[in-house]
This record gives sequence, structure tokens and C-alpha cells, in this order.
Amino acid sequence: MTMSALGEPCVLLKLGEIVLKGKNRELFERRLISNIRDALRSLDLKLDVRKRHGVIAIFLPQGATAEQAQAVAQRVADVPGLVWIHRAWRVAKDPDAVLKAGLELVGESEEAKRGARFAVRSRRRDKRFPLRSNELDRLVGGAINDEYGLPVDLKNPELTVSIEVDRDEVFVFTGGIPGQGGLPVGSSGRALVLMSGGIDSPVAAYRMMRRGLHVDFLHFSGIPFTTSESIYKAYALVKKLDRFQGRSRLWVVPFGKAQQSIRTSGQDRLAVIAQRRLMLKTAEEVAHRIHAAALVTGDALGQVSSQTLANITAQDNAVDLPILRPLVGWDKTEIMAEARRIGTLEISELPDEDCCTLLAPKRAETRAKIEDLKQIEKRLDAEELCVQLADSIQEYTLD
Ligand code: ATP
Ligand code: MG
Repeated sequence: MTMSALGEPCVLLKLGEIVLKGKNRELFERRLISNIRDALRSLDLKLDVRKRHGVIAIFLPQGATAEQAQAVAQRVADVPGLVWIHRAWRVAKDPDAVLKAGLELVGESEEAKRGARFAVRSRRRDKRFPLRSNELDRLVGGAINDEYGLPVDLKNPELTVSIEVDRDEVFVFTGGIPGQGGLPVGSSGRALVLMSGGIDSPVAAYRMMRRGLHVDFLHFSGIPFTTSESIYKAYALVKKLDRFQGRSRLWVVPFGKAQQSIRTSGQDRLAVIAQRRLMLKTAEEVAHRIHAAALVTGDALGQVSSQTLANITAQDNAVDLPILRPLVGWDKTEIMAEARRIGTLEISELPDEDCCTLLAPKRAETRAKIEDLKQIEKRLDAEELCVQLADSIQEYTLD
């Protein structure tokens, strides 16, 4: 596909919630641009990422192919903070050039071959352009209608030709792909995700990245009493999620022996929640070491016995850091749909020996009393134990 008559290929990015920001919008935009540059590094193309009024434009090198432009668009579609990604053409700021580009874009589109109903939507970010938006719509729309005989449909078009007049150039495009929405990763700080090999925690991690957190991942394995399968799963999940934030790290705590001590401390019905508190205490210790300001879990209210309101209260009581639970109000079916969409479901569904299965009592307590839990922790010397566990941590970096 050669589109030389169209001008220069570029990718146009529309910002999400950032546009609602006031004074510190600049900061969010700078963070977003830096995240975009990081994400694109792996493509090994000489790209020019520039801020325009209210949008970000990525210019490709002269002679770049349509496939390369597509690869750029696809890559930035994973970067939180953007709502739309358009493969566009940058043309000179004169009505004639815009008209030609519009005609050619439509001429090459699949929709035009099917005789699709179309609309032209123009927008002037630079009011000095000689034509007003509706005049430009009519000029380009009329020409498309004459040339290809396509019917105009302003309400419900199958093909939309967008024209955006900027300060130095005009962007012309059709179609686009939706972005992730949310805020740029890093703009909300850092957090530590408690990551099992299950379905929920990877989705929780994704939702918090989208709210601007850069996250590290912490996995508790049943080693030495289980195989390393759960670690491989956690690793594969982290690898899958890394495209949203970059620089992901997985930390693994060998937890089997600590679980054994919990089991021998009596109190069968409290074992699960006692174990969860020990995980949280250890996670808090790790969080301090890596400067993370919150913990994230995949809890959903009432989903399992450890996630009743009373047991959530008992978990919050174990640590000082806030525990963020983005899925607290989600149904399992909603969580699964999201896991499928972000590509983690098939990894989570692989069989493994989760460390939690080491400690599954016949009847788990749904209303754990904090006093009872504190008794268990005294016997375990939990404060010392979680420091030891944090000391025994292993780091897995990607690649
Ligand atoms: P998930 O699908 O995330 O495993 P779940 O529905 O199986 O969740 P639980 O097993 O009760 O629910 O776990 C609740 C939360 O506790 C998880 O979402 C996760 O954040 C944390 N968690 C549980 N097990 C582990 C583990 N082995 N390592 C790290 N975090 C864990
Ligand atoms: Mg689980």
C-alpha cells in the first residue's frame, strides 16, 4: 500500500481523563509521553513523539510502511491514559491538500468498496484556518459523494472521515482503535500486588495500573511443600501484564514452612485468615523496602469465605498500609470477562498447586475475631516471622 500522495504517516493519540486535570495536567502529560516513548522503544523505529494542543502525535520516519504505523498504533493501545488511537495522515494546512487526502483515504477503504454511508467530521483547533469546520465538512463530503457516489449519513455513518486542523498541520484519518483509558502509569505512585496464580489478582493489578499505579508483584509459593508451578504461572502472568506498564518485577516468598507453623498452631478454622494476615504483614515489610505505598489484592466481597466483611476487616487490621481491592464490587463473571480481554485468563486457568490448598480446613471461619488471630500470631511470633520471610525473598526480573 503506497500512500505517498496522502502526506506523512503518523499516529494520533487522544488523551483520557487527563483532560479533566487542572493545574497539574502538564505533569500527567509529561508522564504519559515518557511512558509512550518507553513502550515504543522495543519497535526500534526512529519515532518523533510530540505534544499538540490536546492530542499527542507520533510521527514516523519518511517512507515508513503502513505495517510499521500499525505496529506503533497497536503498541500504544496498551499504554494507559489514552482513549483513542488513530492512524492518521499529516498534510499541509491548505484546503486542497486536505481534500486530496480525504478522497484518497476513502478510495482505499474497504467500506467505500461496499458503498458505505459516510460522514466527514472536521475540527479546527486553529481558528485561523480559512474554512470553518462545517465548510470543510461540506467541501470534502461533497467531493467524496461526487467521486465515489457514497451516501452521506451524519447520524449513523459506517465510515467517518475525521479532519483535525492543528497549528502547524492538518491530520486526516478514518477509524481508530480504542485505548485503555485511565491515567498514565506512575502518576499515582507505586504499589505492591499480592499475586496468586488465580484469576482475580492479575485483573486487580491491571485495574490499578490503569489508575496510575506502577506495581511490583509479590507471590507466596508453597515451596518446599509444593512444586514451582505456581511460580511459573505468576511469572507468566507478570509477563503478560508488563505491556501495560513496563519494568515489572516479580518477588517470590517461599511460604511453605510458615504455613506449616500456622497449621500446627491449632485453630483449624482460622488457618486461612491467619495465613492471609501473615501474607499481608510480609507484603507490608516488602512494600517498605521497595517504597510501595499501598498493597493490592484481588478480593471481591463475599466471593469466598476469606472475603466476608468480617474477614476483610480482620485483614485490614493486620497492616497499616492501605489495602486496595479494585474488584471488591465485581461478580466473578465480570472478572473473568476482563481477564479474557487482557489475556490473563488462559494462564490463570492452567493447573497448579496453589499454596492455599495446603491449608484448606473443612469449615473456614467467616467471622474471624481479631483477638483470636492475635493470639495465634503471638504464638507464631508473626512480627519476627514476616521480617524473616521478607529476607528470604527472591526477585525475578523479566527476560
Ligand atoms: P485469586 O484468583 O486472585 O487467586 P481467589 O479468588 O483465589 O483470588 P483467594 O485465594 O482468597 O481468592 O485470594 C484472595 C487474594 O489474596 C488474591 O486475589 C491475592 O491478592 C491474595 N493471594 C492469595 N493467595 C496468594 C498467593 N499465593 N500469593 C500472593 N497473593 C495471594
Ligand atoms: Mg487464589
